[in-house]
Amino acid sequence: MSTPARITHLVNGASWEGTAERTSPVYNPATGEHTGNLDLASADLVGEVVGIAKSAWQSSWQRSSLTQRAQVLFAFRELLNSRKKDIAAIITSEHGKVLSDAEGEVTRGLEVAEFACGIPHLLKGGFSENVSTKVDVYSIRQPLGVVGVISPFNFPAMVPLWFVPIAIACGNAVIIKPSEKDPSAVNAVAALWKEAGLPDGVLNVVHGDKEAVDALLEHPDVKAISFVGSTPIAQYVYDTGTRAGKRVQALGGAKNHMLVLPDADLDLAADAAVNAGFGSAGERCMAISALVAVEPIADELIAKITDRMGKLVTGDGTRGCDMGPLVTKAHRDKVAGYLDRGVEEGATLVVDGREGDVDADGGGFFLRPTLFDNVKPGMSVYDDEIFGPVLSVVRVRSYDEALALINANQYGNGTAIFTNDGGAARRFQNEVEVGMVGINVPIPVPMAYYSFGGWKASLFGDSHAHGMEGVHFYTRGKVVTSRWLDPSHGGINLGFPQNQ
Ligand code: NAD
Repeated sequence: MSTPARITHLVNGASWEGTAERTSPVYNPATGEHTGNLDLASADLVGEVVGIAKSAWQSSWQRSSLTQRAQVLFAFRELLNSRKKDIAAIITSEHGKVLSDAEGEVTRGLEVAEFACGIPHLLKGGFSENVSTKVDVYSIRQPLGVVGVISPFNFPAMVPLWFVPIAIACGNAVIIKPSEKDPSAVNAVAALWKEAGLPDGVLNVVHGDKEAVDALLEHPDVKAISFVGSTPIAQYVYDTGTRAGKRVQALGGAKNHMLVLPDADLDLAADAAVNAGFGSAGERCMAISALVAVEPIADELIAKITDRMGKLVTGDGTRGCDMGPLVTKAHRDKVAGYLDRGVEEGATLVVDGREGDVDADGGGFFLRPTLFDNVKPGMSVYDDEIFGPVLSVVRVRSYDEALALINANQYGNGTAIFTNDGGAARRFQNEVEVGMVGINVPIPVPMAYYSFGGWKASLFGDSHAHGMEGVHFYTRGKVVTSRWLDPSHGGINLGFPQNQ
């Protein structure tokens, strides 16, 4: 076994040279090997980095022209596109997802960079000439200053890319704190920003845990926070950040339901359930974890799903398998713990992911795809966000019962309906209380020019990620009313300004 590598912060365009008081181990989930030691930032270091970001913002990026910003964005887009496979390999080595999935994640992040390349157009304001005699009004949007991004382990490249390109394109300086479980992808992407010509200090990577997050939330010079993670931490970040006077968008956890009506194409639905339930080992915020089958189709659908699950290969993500390991041993054991609990609570364990072989060299954090039937609200396998390869079938008698079930859930991130009835699909998209809806599409992640976000406990704050909501989140609006003096100016008038 090789010695674990040091992984550290990127500050002011260079690797941090200090000595960390605390570190955190990083693993290769497919082998269990301890591959890295991550420096964890102290509150003092976060304070220092905020100062560096603020002065980089004030001295350069705040006043950068739209042309300059667009040029950096285009260069970054090209670099990211050309290094996609390298970034994907880094993701697989620390997260465990299979290489093709890791590359797909980078591609979805790349799309946000492409959207941000259009920043000169996206930041165009309005202009009204002669709103009153010789008076013009126009609107502009200006950057906030230093903004913080705090990201989860499950999309170590894509989630940071939901925010960083737009924040930078809007003229802000950024401090990103990645997940301590798989931190290296963000370091690799940050190096591309430097190569693309972004001035030093405009983007800084600070690694850490609660201490670093709290320091960002409390620092008065951090003007906005974009957070993605589990619901309890999202709620905490939202409450603490807004109390400290910041703009906060905090995206939380999920329990995504896939509703299958009796008229659906059951082969399409079975493919979709397997893809969306077990892709990335179920560690996606848009994974399907509850399959709601409107009777009488449940037995037939379960047979089709079970058949497909039998063909899935679980193993080391570098070997062309379908599904990789879970991110850490602790997470794998937590997810596996739900299998016994589900049985104790009365669910039927149809496929037990603890059984069967994996294509790996041993030592990895594996759990194969698992299927429960006869799951009901009140069981932990239904109520909790398991965040692993566990799919639960809930049998219902009608569309109305299914809708009530989905709407009663505390989460509202994504959902999908499978049907050939356009009227039923249309009714569902209107009535369901969920932020992102798929119609015969199991993982309805919006394109970069739309905005991503859930409802209820899946998002705190009122701004979703990327698209125009991202541009608005990272800018402040200003409206200017202007009159250039000419010889006919109107003299004194103490009345409230009115159009003339
Ligand atoms: P997490 O909440 O454990 O961690 C997220 C971030 O918060 C990390 O950077 C972590 O270092 C930090 N953090 C952890 N504990 C903290 C604490 N006590 N105080 C302050 N900061 C803390 O989430 P995770 O396990 O990394 O990611 C999985 C979760 O993220 C799932 O719940 C998933 O649904 C959610 N997620 C949601 C979306 C979405 O768009 N809604 C997208 C991706 C992931």
